[in-house]
Amino acid sequence: MSLNSSNLEGPANLLAIVVDIPPHLMLLECGPHHYLNSVLAFANLHLGASVNRKLCIVAATHTTTEFLYPPLYPDDQRVRQKDGRLEQLQCLDECVEKRLKELMLHQHNPVNGQANGCSSAAQPPDSLLSGAMGRALLFLRRHIGSSKAASNTARMLVLKVAGESVGQYLNYINVYLTAQKLGVPVDVCCLMTDCGLLQQGADITGGYYHKLTEPQSLLQTLVVLFSLGSWGGGSGKGGRSGGVVALPPPDTVDYRAACFCHRALVNMANVCSNCLSVYCKTVPLCSTCNVFFPIEMPMKRPAKKRR
Ligand SMILES: [Zn+2]
Ligand SMILES: [Zn+2]
Repeated sequence: MSLNSSNLEGPANLLAIVVDIPPHLMLLECGPHHYLNSVLAFANLHLGASVNRKLCIVAATHTTTEFLYPPLYPDDQRVRQKDGRLEQLQCLDECVEKRLKELMLHQHNPVNGQANGCSSAAQPPDSLLSGAMGRALLFLRRHIGSSKAASNTARMLVLKVAGESVGQYLNYINVYLTAQKLGVPVDVCCLMTDCGLLQQGADITGGYYHKLTEPQSLLQTLVVLFSLGSWGGGSGKGGRSGGVVALPPPDTVDYRAACFCHRALVNMANVCSNCLSVYCKTVPLCSTCNVFFPIEMPMKRPAKKRR
């Protein structure tokens, strides 16, 4: 018991997992069950390793974000031991399953469905990942601040399923800068396709970015690449050099910004001198801060065709 109590006073190791649950999750090669089970198994590994581990799981769908764990009401946490299993892990499994079912029920709400049907005509709807990351940061911030031990380590792991989400460019950047300030590295695991904005986040905060082309090996990837921060030195701040496994060097980061007018990634752009909004074309008025740019030489005006 003395060992336990001394551990409890030790530095806490916090992990926030942000799970992308897009409508096209069903199309994933390995299926949504394998995906969610892998995430849950990884969460179990983290929580079961030591008494001073803290965990939160936030799900992001295209309509809402939701805490899957910890439970909203502490009453839910009172679980009796079954089959000699750790109560905490049993609580984690049950809580995530319950919240996930509730979340899915709301997703299939016909009212929501119709609303999405309209917006998804052009392209599949974006998951609200940046919002979920913001909520995860709040959780981490609360627990980083709660303990007097300065050596608390916190990390965030973001799982993203296929697709770029350029529409939330500003929100992402705000989350990254906040995470950087709090000293929280953001690890990213993208399934199937790259996501340039999340790659930027991993780079800014000192996290690790990995694109996984075989979703079958999600759990192995998570354990090998993303648990080092929790097992290893734990000196945090993205320092992975002291890890047991030599990770492959990160790719070159795609640092293109998304323009505010079309939400497209651009190499060269016009930047508002007042608020730093990015526009892919010359604009007479900044739509963010309403600053007017007097243009002396008007842009070449397309000649009107007259017949
Ligand atoms: Zn544009
Ligand atoms: Zn502006």
